[in-house]
Amino acid sequence: MKIAIVVPCYNEEPILATTAETLLHLSDEIYHRHGAEVCLFFVDDGSKDRTWELISHYAQRDNRIHGIKLSHNRGHQQALWAGLEKVSAAYDAAVSIDADLQDDENVILEMIEKFRSGKDIVYGVRRERKTDTLFKRWTAQAFYKFLKWLGGDVLYNHADFRLMSRRAIEALLDFPERNLFLRGMVYSLGYPYDVVLYDRKERMAGESKYPFRKMVSFALDGITSFSVRPLRFIVYLGAIFMFVALAAILWGIVMWLRGTVVPGWASLLVSVWFIGGAILLAVGTIGEYVGKIYSEVKRRPRYFVEQEI
Ligand code: UDP
Ligand code: MG
Repeated sequence: MKIAIVVPCYNEEPILATTAETLLHLSDEIYHRHGAEVCLFFVDDGSKDRTWELISHYAQRDNRIHGIKLSHNRGHQQALWAGLEKVSAAYDAAVSIDADLQDDENVILEMIEKFRSGKDIVYGVRRERKTDTLFKRWTAQAFYKFLKWLGGDVLYNHADFRLMSRRAIEALLDFPERNLFLRGMVYSLGYPYDVVLYDRKERMAGESKYPFRKMVSFALDGITSFSVRPLRFIVYLGAIFMFVALAAILWGIVMWLRGTVVPGWASLLVSVWFIGGAILLAVGTIGEYVGKIYSEVKRRPRYFVEQEI
């Protein structure tokens, strides 16, 4: 049995050494426990620091380590895709894990056990979100709930830490879309799955590559092309207009309490701002979808590989 571990890396210079050591150590254990050969695939997502030099260095020292360097920063999801595409043909299963090893790498042993008992997909699911900031915890939870409410199906508290069998990866790679939201796409495959629970650790070094801006963009399923960005501004503008309408309502009430009212003034003001805001929001929402159609229709390549080792 051959198993690949795919690790997307963006500016991970401070932690790459530890990650490589830890995963190699784990690979030995997997070999002893399951008799499976393990290879590590580091996908450098266009890092600006010495990430690629480190990957090359390790790849030369240990032939279980492989590296793929994307020519440009394409984002976590695309980097993961590039890795999966690379390993799909030659491996029986692939595990994806973040470079910072916040997800407990030791449960990979458990994942492989479940894979051997016939599951195609094994999801890593976090028990609690103790190590996240309050803000990230709340926004993430609100996002999962909102998505579910909108009809999107994802596994609660599962990020991109999972094992997939070859057949599951091949099915995933059949998805033609460019806007990737892997955890939702994989969940929609429907093959037999199981979950393993783990506690998420603190990032060991370096900082999160998902600042608020990236989180929002990921949540809105990343419309990155600048030509569709104006559409998003319409949505923001609509929200601001709605807010002004709210302010106008409060203002009207204050004026009314003071007794200095001009009849009809408040209701007119409120309606104008409210209707304006509602229309802009609606147009903007349609714009989001049109923008998405636009970027899918272009069928641009997902990424370019600059180097491989
Ligand atoms: N990452 C990437 N490209 C990006 C941003 C992030 O490949 O543009 C990788 C990053 O190196 C890490 C993983 O995606 O391996 C998750 O990022 P991070 O740990 O910073 O996110 P967080 O845990 O804070 O959500
Ligand atoms: Mg992290």
